[in-house]
Amino acid sequence: MRLGLDIGGTKIDAVVLDADDAVRSRVRVATGMGPNALLDSAELAVREVVERDGLDLGDVTSIGVGIPGMVDPATGHVRHAVNLRVTDLALAELLSGRVGAPVRLENDVKAAALGAYSLLGLTGTAALLNLGTGVAAGIVMDGTLWRGPGGGAGEVGHIPIDPSGVRCGCGQYGCIETFASGTALARMWPSQAPLPALELFDAADAGDQAAIDVRRAVAAGAASGVRVLVLTVDVQTVVIGGGLSNLGDRLLAAMTDVMRQWGEDSPFIASLGLPERVRMLPAEVPAAAVGAALVGAAAETASRPSAPSAAAAAEER
Ligand SMILES: [Zn+2]
Repeated sequence: MRLGLDIGGTKIDAVVLDADDAVRSRVRVATGMGPNALLDSAELAVREVVERDGLDLGDVTSIGVGIPGMVDPATGHVRHAVNLRVTDLALAELLSGRVGAPVRLENDVKAAALGAYSLLGLTGTAALLNLGTGVAAGIVMDGTLWRGPGGGAGEVGHIPIDPSGVRCGCGQYGCIETFASGTALARMWPSQAPLPALELFDAADAGDQAAIDVRRAVAAGAASGVRVLVLTVDVQTVVIGGGLSNLGDRLLAAMTDVMRQWGEDSPFIASLGLPERVRMLPAEVPAAAVGAALVGAAAETASRPSAPSAAAAAEER
């Protein structure tokens, strides 16, 4: 049985997949901060989802883990997961040692891209543009995650779109991330509301000019991410995920306005049909956990001694 874990800043989302990649069971546990507590909470998530499914740990054939930070799938290390207070952790090896199943890591946004591709039944080339604390994309080509040699493929959040913009955490100025992230929204729309993004959109709908300007800046940042992905990879679908995607059709409408205005200025941009390529990730869909499970299973298949020779035999035929 294949397990997937999505380790977020506050909770771990754990799923068990059936043979058709559908979710059989799902649990959520609180994320432990720092290396030891994080490992404890990941182990707890595995044990709880296995128990929920009526399985034993011995039934688990593979575990995939999606986690923020710099992930090296080859070594199973995660580095600089600042929000989890992890500098360098051999998470794959340590978790595998505790639960007795092979563990493979992937960056959480890349895992979510693969999960969204599967859950939404996408084909061809697609991307998930994650508008969370930061901005990043995962790119899937014909069902396969495209990482790039250094794992940097899809880091579109750090493409500058405004040279006179504010300084980004990366050191550049006016990056997409300084417009279309939760961090950017908090800077441009300081608020004590429990859901600042909703407050912003409500105020804009009510005609507040400052809110309309901020909504436009957020939407233009997100639309710029879509434009970059289409112009570089010609992705047929861009799924919008991350915290801001909870705005659903309200964000989609604001992005569509921006993209249509670009199209009015540029027949070339109009010809790309940007608005038709964008869709929102439905709320509560466990894209990253499902994607992680698929990543983990791929590793298990690849490490089977018979698999490479079978593939080679198939190629010879
Ligand atoms: Zn940046």
